[in-house]
Amino acid sequence: MTEDCLFCKIISKEIPSYILYEDDEILVFLDINPITKGHALFIPKKHIANLCELKEEEIGFMKKLPAIARKLKEVTGATGMNLIQNNGKDAGQVIFHIHFHLMPRHPNDGLTMLPPRTALDKVGAEDLINKFAQ
Ligand code: 5GP
Ligand code: ZN
Repeated sequence: MTEDCLFCKIISKEIPSYILYEDDEILVFLDINPITKGHALFIPKKHIANLCELKEEEIGFMKKLPAIARKLKEVTGATGMNLIQNNGKDAGQVIFHIHFHLMPRHPNDGLTMLPPRTALDKVGAEDLINKFAQ
């Protein structure tokens, strides 16, 4: 529990939320401003800021993500599911308690989330491969 963290307050029930699932490790609740019907947030109860702060030994809670996604898909009658996960302010992270957005999708639901793409820069790619290997 981190005092200033909104999601820690949701976990402790200091702030109310619509909870879909809870156990000793995770909480799954509805996003207050859903992008799609059933848009839910999957979070660990342990306060971890984001993916880059997550240690290998803390990753166990993530094994529950597929079953939660399956169940949410089933109960919303969705035919697809987006998983969005923002890390850092410049990536759109607003709440610094790691969370996974589960967004049920339906055919022709009008949601377009993918920006235009560019061709891969080959020199840049090779440079990155070299840096990654160091
Ligand atoms: P982020 O932009 O950090 O990836 O996502 C934070 C999410 O938390 C947003 O989708 C936002 O709607 C949601 N959110 C913010 N405040 C509350 C709240 O008080 N209750 C709930 N249920 N969701 C919240
Ligand atoms: Zn927290």
